[in-house]
Amino acid sequence: MEAAMLYVVTDFDGTLMREDVGDTIMYALGVMQEEGTRKAVRLMNSGQSGSKAWIELAYPYLKGKKAEVDRILEEVRPRDGAAEFLAFCRQHGIPVTILSDGMAYYIEELVKRHGLVVQQVVVNPIRYLEDGGYHVGAENRNPACDWCGCCKAGTVRQLKASGGQVIYVGDGSSDILGSGFADWIFARSTLARHLEEQGEAYFPFETFHDILKVVAPRVEQFQDGTAQGKRTQPNTFCRF
Ligand SMILES: [Mg+2]
Ligand SMILES: [Zn+2]
Repeated sequence: MEAAMLYVVTDFDGTLMREDVGDTIMYALGVMQEEGTRKAVRLMNSGQSGSKAWIELAYPYLKGKKAEVDRILEEVRPRDGAAEFLAFCRQHGIPVTILSDGMAYYIEELVKRHGLVVQQVVVNPIRYLEDGGYHVGAENRNPACDWCGCCKAGTVRQLKASGGQVIYVGDGSSDILGSGFADWIFARSTLARHLEEQGEAYFPFETFHDILKVVAPRVEQFQDGTAQGKRTQPNTFCRF
């Protein structure tokens, strides 16, 4: 029998990139002090809303700020080992998805600039347009989810529904939902702390060299689903 397809899903900000590019932009351009942004933060912190509110309330403030955003993009870098890890995945026929609740404009720009070749990029369609306009939208096409900007859980579930094995790499709160349906999780920062509290299995990482050290020697076991360290508990939030 042919082994199921192995997929890698990686978050972008603070994961594939060293920096949280979205947060860096929001702080540097003063968006965090704006009325709508503060409202979005209140809604999210009180558990009344997910990242959809953030997309709708904070991102409009980046209108007309392409030059300022471009200047910030000069300063950010991929995480160590990212290029080597993506090359490894290409060599082994492992499709990689960049899954982000950030903004398409800076993600597509940085993917091009740093040669981060992947199979697909799933991200909120927020872009500066050719005609000087600006478009804000949420990626979420999951009818059961009125919570996320980009419904990370929905994308991982799609890959699982195709019968594949999924390795998830992430760092933030949206990755708590995203990694909920994955088979193995590589985590740092907020995601790692959450999984730790839950007593959930994960592999800690700081660079993609750390991830390669785990995956490369036993890539066949990841491909056939027998590799140790799988998440143990079912997802408790995204129950759609
Ligand atoms: Mg992140
Ligand atoms: Zn969702």
